[in-house]
Amino acid sequence: MAREPSTFGNDSRPFGEAVLWRPEANGRVVCDLCAHRCRILPGRSGVCRVRANRNGRLVSLVRDRLIAGHVDPIEKKPLFHFLPGTLSYSIATAGCNFRCRFCQNFTLSQAVRDGGEVPGEPVAPARVVEAALRSGCATLAYTYTEPTIFFETAEEVGLLARQRGLKNVFVTNGFLTPEAVERARAFLDAANVDLKGFDDGRYRKVCGASLKGVLTGLESLVRAGVWVEVTTLVVPGMNDSDGELRAVARYVADLGRHVPWHISRYHPDYLMDSGGPTPLATLERAWELGREAGLDHVYLGNVPGHPSEHTTCPKCGTIVLERLGFHAVPRALAGGRCAACGERIHGVFAA
Ligand code: SF4
Repeated sequence: MAREPSTFGNDSRPFGEAVLWRPEANGRVVCDLCAHRCRILPGRSGVCRVRANRNGRLVSLVRDRLIAGHVDPIEKKPLFHFLPGTLSYSIATAGCNFRCRFCQNFTLSQAVRDGGEVPGEPVAPARVVEAALRSGCATLAYTYTEPTIFFETAEEVGLLARQRGLKNVFVTNGFLTPEAVERARAFLDAANVDLKGFDDGRYRKVCGASLKGVLTGLESLVRAGVWVEVTTLVVPGMNDSDGELRAVARYVADLGRHVPWHISRYHPDYLMDSGGPTPLATLERAWELGREAGLDHVYLGNVPGHPSEHTTCPKCGTIVLERLGFHAVPRALAGGRCAACGERIHGVFAA
């Protein structure tokens, strides 16, 4: 995208002022955007490093600082049941409220935390939406880093996108507060939520966040009527035991047996080198555990060509959507139902 003067901030807040915060005594503020609920002293920033207390007011340091604008298949998010086969205009700013040692996007997500300036280019929201439309995209995706921490950017672009007939999707760690989800309802249509395991102690140690905060955010999104898919990155030696994978699968099934569960292969990255990518046998075992838990749709990710990439009818087993990597082709899907037996296939299948 071309660099241009920013026109972010077309609302009643002073430019840069954050949403969802409250003042406390002595100039301190509380940020209610994510479950950290940081209490921030004047001159300091929150855990994410991109929201700061300036003279007793909370400001976003990344509101008009886009670091990415790419056209991706929606399958890459991954979202397999939300407008499959369409393109998604994907944007991000720097920063994250987690510090996962196995982050697959660490050059972007940890750019500020690791001592960098706040990078990014000012791009007008209208230009972002125009770029999405021009590229033939059906959605705006807020992704690559954590959209919660660039909520103001997503909201401003998202509301405009919705006016122009586009949908909006988050790829998120799920650590949003219920208040943030409530506010996001005005523009958010779908989310892929990372559920990195089911062990609170490890969540805290490896990601610096609580499991409960993630589950609360995830459940808030489902209750808000946002279409949700769940992804679990399976890291060898960390969250690959049958007990943990079974716990994740059962939790997703409790959200709804139709909720798609993506089991993603890990490649060594960032601060953690576990010795190699996740073995295929581990991923296939996780797939079995997902099906045993009663889930209708379990997919393996980062394993191109695997048969589990296809969407099958939960009743008769017909392949209704065929996939090869990030390409999806409807085979037996008519009006959101299996063309062979008429069973409903949950999701959003028409723009
Ligand atoms: S978004 Fe989360 S991490 Fe960032 S300041 Fe707010 S509560 Fe803290």
